[in-house]
Amino acid sequence: MSPATVAVIAHRKKTLGGGLDELRRLITDEGCDTLLWYEVSKSRKAVKKARRAREAGADLVFVWGGDGMVQRCVAALAGSGTAVAIVPAGTANLLAANLGIPQDIAEAVRIGFHGPQRKLDLGKVNGEHFAVMAGAGFDAAMIEQADRKLKDQFGRLAYVWTGLRHINDDAVPVKIKIDGTKWFQGEASCVLLGNVSTITGGIRAFDDAKPDDGWMEVGVATAEGALDWARTLGRMAAGRSDRSPFVQITRAKAVDITFGAKVRYELDGGSRDKARRLKARIDPGALILCVPEPA
Ligand SMILES: [Mg+2]
Repeated sequence: MSPATVAVIAHRKKTLGGGLDELRRLITDEGCDTLLWYEVSKSRKAVKKARRAREAGADLVFVWGGDGMVQRCVAALAGSGTAVAIVPAGTANLLAANLGIPQDIAEAVRIGFHGPQRKLDLGKVNGEHFAVMAGAGFDAAMIEQADRKLKDQFGRLAYVWTGLRHINDDAVPVKIKIDGTKWFQGEASCVLLGNVSTITGGIRAFDDAKPDDGWMEVGVATAEGALDWARTLGRMAAGRSDRSPFVQITRAKAVDITFGAKVRYELDGGSRDKARRLKARIDPGALILCVPEPA
């Protein structure tokens, strides 16, 4: 049975295969009574469109774009019961990559209509949902500094390289409470909250992260100085990140982070205004995502 109402929310500057015309053709081939079509020029404009799709009672929403687009859409659709399908047309497609959704329009559409629908957790930081990761410190800086040319040329790798340019950035004092109990206090260069294991450029920041266990991974990197940082990155890329002496990792339902000064933070690769405090929690099963059949 084909869904009654299908919506497409597309970042019109993102390209993949035969583009949005191919997407429309493939969706109409599958069949639906109503096709709602929204295009935006910036990810943040997708929030309003996703709300509109939700209000229109869409059964299935296709998101055309990368992690930033997906984050904006799932934030608006969280808890609605609307199924989301990703067409990974962005620069960084970590959520799709983690779940085995390929960068192929035909296959992404097939998964949307016929793939199993999985209930996945979302994280929530300062009131906004994320699907991949949230963080503050070097990671936010590296995403922000990744210049467009570099990003287009090298994709996710650019994040890592630009991150390396910031190796001399000072660490900030941080206090972290896990489910109400003090867990970390000290200088940190990075605090990461993860829902899936691969964070950036193939670096598995959280080896055992599962997006449907009702827990979020919490990591703090205390690396200071160029050499320590390079070693940490090397370890994260080469093996288990929790074996690094500069990284401390645990799991939580709720995380309360207080920084010594305001810091910029990010959600799924998108930069947000500076904040001194990040209040985070896991929102179990808030996202219904169309995924490939298990191999
Ligand atoms: Mg989890």
